[in-house]
Amino acid sequence: MTCFGPRQQTAALQQAVPKTRVQTCNSTPVRADGEFVLYWMIAFRRTEWNFSLQRAVEWAVELRKPLVIFEPLRVGYRWASDRFHRFVVDGMADNASRIAAMKNRGVVYFPYVEPERGSGNGLLAALAERACVVVTDDFPSFFLPQMVAATATRLPVKLEQVDANGLLPLRATDRVFTTAFSFRSYLQQELPPHLAQFPQSNPLARIQLPAMKTLPGTITRRWKPVSKELLLGDVAELAAFSIDHSVGVVDQRGGATAARQRLQQFLERRLAHYSETANEPDEEARSGLSPYLHFGHISPHELFHELTSCECWSPARLARKSNGKREGWWGMSTGAETWLDQFVTWRELGYNMASHRDDYERYESLPDWARATLDKHARDRREHVYSLDEFSAASTRDPLWNAAQTQLLREGRIHNYMRMLWGKKILEWTASPRDALDVMIELNNRYALDGRNPNSYSGIFWCLGRYDRPWGPERHIVGTVRYMSSANTARKFSVDGYLSCYGEGTHR
Ligand SMILES: Cc1cc2nc3c(=O)[nH]c(=O)nc-3n(C[C@H](O)[C@H](O)[C@H](O)COP(=O)(O)OP(=O)(O)OC[C@H]3O[C@@H](n4cnc5c(N)ncnc54)[C@H](O)[C@@H]3O)c2cc1C
Repeated sequence: MTCFGPRQQTAALQQAVPKTRVQTCNSTPVRADGEFVLYWMIAFRRTEWNFSLQRAVEWAVELRKPLVIFEPLRVGYRWASDRFHRFVVDGMADNASRIAAMKNRGVVYFPYVEPERGSGNGLLAALAERACVVVTDDFPSFFLPQMVAATATRLPVKLEQVDANGLLPLRATDRVFTTAFSFRSYLQQELPPHLAQFPQSNPLARIQLPAMKTLPGTITRRWKPVSKELLLGDVAELAAFSIDHSVGVVDQRGGATAARQRLQQFLERRLAHYSETANEPDEEARSGLSPYLHFGHISPHELFHELTSCECWSPARLARKSNGKREGWWGMSTGAETWLDQFVTWRELGYNMASHRDDYERYESLPDWARATLDKHARDRREHVYSLDEFSAASTRDPLWNAAQTQLLREGRIHNYMRMLWGKKILEWTASPRDALDVMIELNNRYALDGRNPNSYSGIFWCLGRYDRPWGPERHIVGTVRYMSSANTARKFSVDGYLSCYGEGTHR
């Protein structure tokens, strides 16, 4: 049997980045007499399986120029903290060592961590001033789309943004999908041609570009590259940055190497049982890849490639007809199909919403039925109303909810099943559904490693009815929005083990 992986990869090596994934952001032309091609790496923070980097390489080869990969990290963004800085800098360390190991003198890597708010201002412009063309990442969420749009009008050269978000290009459809079923049915019809258009696994391999020693001193003297100490993982170094130090680092390394290890462990040990165990409290039942996907340390294309290699799969196994069902279309094992439904259908459903609706993070984006029922019950008397600080400190009267929040505080994650309960209870314990939304966004994005992502909003808004349907009976406060209780959760999910890890009185 022919496996998808190697054969497909050979084909991908000869392919250019698909046009649907590339968008020109301004009308400024390419400057062939510039010194280098600039890749402004802001979301897909990896050197492999990355359409953006591949596109920048295409330009560098065409123009016969060196390539500068500029990976910045700002301090002034909302929720910037030790936790996220550490994770991103781990990724920088991996990128630095991978690029150094290639010994390609035509590629310069410039990782930059802004020491104070605003001190990085002017750096991109100074680099772009010397560049032929700038390529960046097209990520549909958080402050990135606004930042790229604002930058585009100011740059003296052409700026392109490239979409490496998922298996389906964001612009393959104009439609916003409101249910997983409709999106799955669409994918089953439209995804196959995109499965033949994968990024190169290593776009920097075997390229010959003119050599470039370093960046000009006028740039590196004013904007110093990230220190060796910080790259090596010295947590004390973070104290110097004006970020939130109360959200501490977690015991989980960021970067492509750690991501790949997790992926391999998951595929070898857990995938086969995923459909039965995904809701069990054992953290290892799931892949734990969402933070790496969020920070771009691993690509969904690589996940798919590794999965299909394990399954010895080829596209010939795809079902001829789409039926919108979770299982049976891919022609893979049950565990693989269940996992694909999470990391392709559910994950890309959130990216579809964020890329097509400017209000994807606002209450008004909820379906009409959900707003109507929540608004009808907005004034219902609440048994408990907690403040943001009480929620944040895990000091509600519900031990199970407090355990979930404790896991979020300590580890930057919540078990998926508990995460649903966590959100549903916030809806019941805030003065209004709008307040509930604010609290969920604040806590999820402040503490979760995978927060600030299109799927942060999918998950949070799902608790309020997005992607769902009305469920009877109509209840106090939640109306016909799907209800979850701690008591019910205790029947479906083994809470004892969970409470012994994260319940009151437990310590790290
Ligand atoms: C209130 C709430 C908040 C959430 N916030 C986030 C968030 O900030 N960031 C985030 O990535 N996910 C979020 N989710 C979705 C889900 O909880 C996580 O994606 C999942 O737990 C990540 O664990 P994993 O990587 O082990 O997933 P796996 O089960 O191994 O799945 C693989 C990948 O598929 C995707 N995925 C899995 N489940 C979902 C889902 N339900 N919806 C969308 N994509 C999914 C993720 O990218 C995940 O890494 C939230 C869910 C809820 C209910």
